[in-house]
Amino acid sequence: MKVAVTGGAGFIGANLCRALAARPEIDRVVAYDNLSTGDAANLDGSVAELVVGDILDRALLRDVLDSADAVVHLAARPSVPRSLADPVASHDANATGTVNVLEACRHAGAHLVAASSSSVYGATPELPKHEDLPTRPLSPYAASKLAAESYALAYGSSFGLPALVLRFFNVYGPLQSTGHAYAAAIPAFVHAALSGKPLAVHGDGRQTRDFTFVGSVVDVLTQAVLGRVTAGTPVNLAFGESVSIRQVIEIIGEVLGRDLEVCYGPSRTGDVRHSHGANDRLLALFPGLAPIRLADGLRQTIDWFATTGAYPVSTGRPAGARSATV
Ligand code: NAD
Repeated sequence: MKVAVTGGAGFIGANLCRALAARPEIDRVVAYDNLSTGDAANLDGSVAELVVGDILDRALLRDVLDSADAVVHLAARPSVPRSLADPVASHDANATGTVNVLEACRHAGAHLVAASSSSVYGATPELPKHEDLPTRPLSPYAASKLAAESYALAYGSSFGLPALVLRFFNVYGPLQSTGHAYAAAIPAFVHAALSGKPLAVHGDGRQTRDFTFVGSVVDVLTQAVLGRVTAGTPVNLAFGESVSIRQVIEIIGEVLGRDLEVCYGPSRTGDVRHSHGANDRLLALFPGLAPIRLADGLRQTIDWFATTGAYPVSTGRPAGARSATV
């Protein structure tokens, strides 16, 4: 069996390629990535092959995906702030790029598993977020992910493309990049804490997120590929463990055995206030999932940052920030 992973040199993609390459049922794993936010080094020591290419390059994409039995589509320009800085680039990569991947899958007759995002719920106030709620994107990133998942499902109904769309909720863990303006919260916190710097929080820290350890995401993606799982609607990939940013910082402090200095800055445009995913649809498709709980996942993440030394870069403090200790 050949599996292609777009965005395979990125954070989730490289974790996935490593896991897929270790499975006896899979003979070839090909990571297709333009290395814009990913890194070839994320695949060091793995037998996964890397093809450097862009999902906007339709000819190369079609060539590489041609003989694939399954495609996991993770390539995207992630992050809300990045999409505010350049909405057209986010649209091109996330929406147009997805249509290109769907065309290549259609040509290859491949099963598709595609990454969407909890951000599609946006301004919808109900909690927990379940898949039948209306979607109200608050950012160009969220709108582009909604377009991408709509296309994937439309290719299912129009062309019979076997597809599964998973809405990821705040994934964290080893290989997640940090030390740059668009870093996600957990790697930015871990990196700051290990560097002895204050943790920069956007807003009052009482906003909540449903954090998912990358190992749990990889487990679902692997089962989806091997079981050729499909669904006619999007499916939340969440485990219902919604916590506030303040609680996350407390746990990081507990793991490190010390109080952490925190500075609070203004909230960011496009960020949702609360996020908590319902997962009955996920558990119906994948019974018996055993997700890694937040405290264990944070411990593994901190260990990874500490042992690889992937942290000593300054995070900076948001404008108008004030400090406190948690
Ligand atoms: P990432 O930035 O580490 O991975 C994205 C990968 O896609 C990178 O390796 C990048 O180089 C590659 N890429 C970007 N544009 C490309 C293009 N035009 N052609 C080819 N490759 C391209 O981010 P990630 O966190 O691993 O995200 C993976 C997927 O999961 C994305 O689709 C993202 O929208 C989705 N997602 C992630 C989270 C999260 O919390 N990390 C949450 C919701 C959804």
